[in-house]
Amino acid sequence: MTIFAKIIAGEIPCHKIYEDDHVLAFLDISPIARGHTLVVPKEPAPTLDKLSDEASAAIGRVLPRISRAVLAATGATQFNVLQNNGPLAHQAVFHVHFHIIPKLDSASGLGVEWPSGRLDDGPALAKAIASKL
Ligand code: AMP
Repeated sequence: MTIFAKIIAGEIPCHKIYEDDHVLAFLDISPIARGHTLVVPKEPAPTLDKLSDEASAAIGRVLPRISRAVLAATGATQFNVLQNNGPLAHQAVFHVHFHIIPKLDSASGLGVEWPSGRLDDGPALAKAIASKL
C-alpha cells in the first residue's frame, strides 16, 4: 500500500483541499513552491498509462478548477502541472498523482531541463504510435 493509498483511506493525515468520489487533492508535504498541491485519483494505479478512462476523466474534470483555486490563494498567475511515471522519470510514490506547482518567480517552483532534439522520423513515428491506440 502506498502512502497516498493510506491518505485516501484516512489512515494518515493530509492537508486536504478537495475530495469527490474519485479524486483527492492535498498539499504536498515538501513543497517546491507555496501552494504546491497534489491531485490524486482514488483508483490505485501506479502510473498514468494504467489508469482507467473513468478515473482519468474524473481527474481531468477537476484539475483546472483546483489549479484556479491554487492560483487565487497564492497570488500566482503561472504554474506547472507535473506528472511523473517511473523512477527514471522522478516518480517516488507509485500511485498516480498530478503536481500543481505555482511559478511565482524564476528562482522557485519547477525547473525544467529541455534537451530539444531533431524529429527525423515524424511520419513513421506518428503512424507507429497511432497504430497502438
Ligand atoms: P513524485 O516524485 O512525482 O512521485 O512526487 C511525490 C510527491 O509526494 C513529493 O513531492 C513528496 O513531497 C510528496 N509526498 C510524499 N509523502 C507525502 C505525504 N505524506 N503528504 C503529502 N505529500 C507527500
